[in-house]
Amino acid sequence: MFEGKAGEEMSDAILTEGQRSLRDEARAFAREQVVPQLLLDLDADKVRYPREYVHALAKHRLLGLRFSQEWGGRGLDWSHEVLALEEIGVLGSSLACLFSLPSIVGEAIHVFCSREQKERYLKPILEGKLTVAEALTEPRGGSDFFGATATARREGDHYILNGQKRFIVGAEGADLFMVYARTDPQAAGHRAISALLVERGEDLEVQHVYGLMGTRGGGTGRVLFRNVRVPVENLIGQEHGAYEVFNQMMIPERMTSAAGALGLARAALEIAARYADRRKAFGQRIRDFEGVSFKVAESLTHLDAARALVHQTAREIDLEENSPYIRRMVSESKKFATETAWAVVNDAMQILGGIGYTNVFPIERMLRDARLMTIWTGTNEIMNLVIQHEYFRELLASEPGAREVEADALNANVEGEKVYD
Ligand SMILES: Cc1cc2nc3c(=O)[nH]c(=O)nc-3n(C[C@H](O)[C@H](O)[C@H](O)COP(=O)(O)OP(=O)(O)OC[C@H]3O[C@@H](n4cnc5c(N)ncnc54)[C@H](O)[C@@H]3O)c2cc1C
Repeated sequence: MFEGKAGEEMSDAILTEGQRSLRDEARAFAREQVVPQLLLDLDADKVRYPREYVHALAKHRLLGLRFSQEWGGRGLDWSHEVLALEEIGVLGSSLACLFSLPSIVGEAIHVFCSREQKERYLKPILEGKLTVAEALTEPRGGSDFFGATATARREGDHYILNGQKRFIVGAEGADLFMVYARTDPQAAGHRAISALLVERGEDLEVQHVYGLMGTRGGGTGRVLFRNVRVPVENLIGQEHGAYEVFNQMMIPERMTSAAGALGLARAALEIAARYADRRKAFGQRIRDFEGVSFKVAESLTHLDAARALVHQTAREIDLEENSPYIRRMVSESKKFATETAWAVVNDAMQILGGIGYTNVFPIERMLRDARLMTIWTGTNEIMNLVIQHEYFRELLASEPGAREVEADALNANVEGEKVYD
């Protein structure tokens, strides 16, 4: 007799009481506070920015969980936040992203900003009074971050911001934008860019981007800055110091993508498995065909493996702030969880057959959402760049402590055959 609860995806025994309780809170929020009509309206582009949803998250104190209570967070860690993210992830990529943005932009403020800036911005963000967006990608490219061309020229106690950003989630409803812009026209990219907090004003124009394949209704837009005056005190960290800010921000940026993807994949797999249990073909349940049940087995195995990696990475960040493995593990988590989500949702559609391709089931929307996940917050090719780079660095810098297995070959000592150039 199975003694777990329906919908439980790992043994409660490996979670602390606090983790279980937060997961259950986020699960209850996703179940009870978001009506299906909102998801339909977002997907139909009838809602451009669901401000009430952000307010509801704030009311339930679910925004910025990691930040200290002083600013309205709960002072939790990543091991908690990924649990909440997975639950919110079942709502799709737009709502998961709007849940994540205070965690992403908030990270920069929490780590790099003064008490005054935290009072002015972080607190109202976590109260849901100030909505945020992160503006990094430009029309000329997102992967080559340090090639950014938006400029912020210093003029007295202001910067004059000019340029464009595109594909900015939340742009339509954001009161505050975190913007990366070039403050030194001469220096190399990684020493030329600053991160700024920019309030919405008349010199900042947001244009709606039509025609997204999925992830609709989250306010994704193009943002144009025309001589926007930004007070110098809205600088995040050091002038020209966006390199440090960017590196720090990539943790929440990619961890939120990874953990949100788990929820979407889990939801799709559950729909497909329940369908396979009821749907009949050739006089038997389709789950009795290996072609179907093995897809369920593969999906579940990958999903469990992705979850384990995401949780392991969360623990690494929590336990060792300056761990040299964080960059690699965060990138692996983002890559593996998002590729898993894509494969799981795709197989869920296959299990449903033709009806999966219609809007009778939400799988087709999930598929459209999942497709973006391997592209945004750094494409998975960029994740590969980071992963291999970090691995070579670790490997070649380390003293071999483990067994030297290269010597376990019959002719291992025939050095003349080991030709490298
Ligand atoms: C719906 C949506 C929402 C988004 N939300 C936001 C947001 O809120 N804020 C924000 O700042 N951005 C956002 N983005 C932008 C997203 O992060 C970028 O699209 C992504 O980083 C890729 O940048 P790009 O589109 O300019 O592609 P490019 O950088 O032009 O890349 C094109 C292709 O080349 C590959 N490539 C590039 N360089 C390399 C390399 N060195 N090695 C191997 N392959 C490489 C890429 O992997 C990709 O396949 C969003 C995008 C979309 C579509």
